[in-house]
Amino acid sequence: MGDPKAFLTIHRKEAGYRPVHDRIHDFGEVEQTLNSGDRRLQASRCMDCGVPFCHWACPLGNKPPEWNDALYKGDWELAYRLLNSTNDFPEFTGRVCPALCEKACVLNLTEHEPTTNREDEAAITEHAFEENYVRTHHPERNGQKVAVIGSGPAGLVAANRLNLMGYAVTVFDKNEDAGGLLRYGIPNFKLNKAVIDRRMKVLRDEGIEFKFNTEIDLQALPTGFDAYIVATGTPEARDLAIPGRDLKGIYFALDMLAQQNRILAGKELKREELVTARGKDVLVIGGGDTGSDCIGTAHRQGCKSVIQIEIMPQPPIGPDDPQKPWPAWPRTLKTTSSHEEGCTRRWNINSLRFLGKNGQVTGVEVQEIAWKPNPEGGRPLMEPVGKPEVIKADIVLLALGFLKPQHPKLADNVFLAGDASSGASLVVRAMASGRDAAAQVDTFLKRH
Ligand SMILES: Cc1cc2nc3c(=O)[nH]c(=O)nc-3n(C[C@H](O)[C@H](O)[C@H](O)COP(=O)(O)OP(=O)(O)OC[C@H]3O[C@@H](n4cnc5c(N)ncnc54)[C@H](O)[C@@H]3O)c2cc1C
Ligand code: SF4
Repeated sequence: MGDPKAFLTIHRKEAGYRPVHDRIHDFGEVEQTLNSGDRRLQASRCMDCGVPFCHWACPLGNKPPEWNDALYKGDWELAYRLLNSTNDFPEFTGRVCPALCEKACVLNLTEHEPTTNREDEAAITEHAFEENYVRTHHPERNGQKVAVIGSGPAGLVAANRLNLMGYAVTVFDKNEDAGGLLRYGIPNFKLNKAVIDRRMKVLRDEGIEFKFNTEIDLQALPTGFDAYIVATGTPEARDLAIPGRDLKGIYFALDMLAQQNRILAGKELKREELVTARGKDVLVIGGGDTGSDCIGTAHRQGCKSVIQIEIMPQPPIGPDDPQKPWPAWPRTLKTTSSHEEGCTRRWNINSLRFLGKNGQVTGVEVQEIAWKPNPEGGRPLMEPVGKPEVIKADIVLLALGFLKPQHPKLADNVFLAGDASSGASLVVRAMASGRDAAAQVDTFLKRH
C-alpha cells in the first residue's frame, strides 16, 4: 500500500462527462479521462483494507487494492497484469460496469467518497494497449475442441479462457460481428465499438475461430466438438400487451439501439426501415438503464422531447439506501449522462392503452398508481390513484426488460453461461459466468 493517509487529504475526483452541448451532437464516448498524475493520486486513496469488500462485491473477484497500489507507484504494466489476472477484458468493465466494488468500498461507508476503481481500470487498460504490453499468447493445443454459441461478453470470456487452456475454440454467432449487447445494445456513447475490435484482433491472433451470420439450433448443435458453451443471452424482450399495441411507431428499445449502432458501423438502410426519433416527441416506457440508453440515443438523433415513465415508485435519493445498507448495492435513484441531457422522468405510472391516428401511434393513456402492501404477502398490490391522462408521443420505446430464456434439457457436455443462464444482468456478471463455464468444461473434459 503506497500512501496510508492519502484518503484523508485527497478527495475522490471523477473525470466526468464531456459538456452536454458538446456531446449531444455525436456518438463519441461521453466520459472523459483524468491525466495520469491525477489518476495515480486517485489510486493512492485505496487503503488496502484488511477485509477488502471490493473483492467480495466484484463478481469477477477483481482486486482493486493490488492494482491501485501498482498504479499509485507508477508501475502501469504490473497494474495491468494484476487486473488482467481476474478480468479478461477490463476495457469493457472499465467503461460500462456500474462498479459494484465502489459501493462496497470502505470509503463509501461514511464519507461517500469511494475509490475510483472503474475509471482506474479503464485507464490501466488503455495504457496497456497504448504501450503495447497486452500479450498475444500461443497456447499449446491439447487436441480437444469446444464450440461457444454466442459472442457476447460471456461467450468471449469463455472462449478466451478455454483457448488459453489449449482447447481449439470456435465461436458461432447469428450476428454479423462479435460482442452481443456490447456491440448491438450498449450505445457507442458509452462504449466505442473500436474497443471491441481491438480485443477481437488479440483473440483471433491467439487462434480463436469466429463464425458469424450463423444461427445455431440449440437442439441440433454442430458436430465435431467435445463440449459446448451456450451463451446466447436473453433474445426475447418483455412486451406490453395493452390495446393499440399494433399501431405503427411502437418499438422495442433494441430495435432502435441495435439499428443505431449498425448505422454507425456503416450499415445503410432505406428511409422506411429507420427507427428514428428525429423531430419527434419520444416516450420511453421503462425506467431502467436500457430506457436511459434510448434517451441518449433519441437526443443524438434530434428528438423534440423525451419522457420516461416507470410503473414502480421512485427509488430513494442516495447515497444511502435503508433497505440495502453498505456494503450491499443500494437501490437509489440513478441519474445517467443521458438523463442529464434532458428528460422528464415520472414514476408510479401505469400504461392503459396506446392511442393512434391512421394506424400511427400518437400517445399513450396512462394513470398514476400507488403500491399497497399485499395482505396475503408477496408482490404489493397496484391501486389507481389519479385520473387517466394522455402522454403525447410520436414514437414509443418499450424498455421493459427481457424474458429469462427457457432451455431444453441439455446434454452433459453442454454448459450455459451469461444472461442465457441467469436472465438479463450485467456485463461483469456475464463475464464471471463465462469464466465459470470455461472452468466447468475443462473439469468435464479432463474427467471424460
Ligand atoms: C441496451 C442495453 C444496455 C446495457 N448496458 C449495460 C451497461 O451499461 N453495463 C452493464 O454491465 N450491462 C449492461 N447491459 C446488460 C449487458 O449488456 C448484458 O448483461 C450482457 O451483454 C450479457 O452478456 P451475454 O454474453 O450473456 O449475452 P449477450 O451480450 O446478449 O450476447 C449473446 C450473443 O448470442 C448470440 N446468439 C443468440 N442466439 C444465438 C443462436 N441461436 N446462434 C448463434 N448466436 C446466438 C447473439 O447474437 C449475441 O451476440 C445492457 C443491456 C442492454 C440491453
Ligand atoms: S469489474 Fe466492476 S465491480 Fe469489478 S472491480 Fe471493475 S468496476 Fe469494480
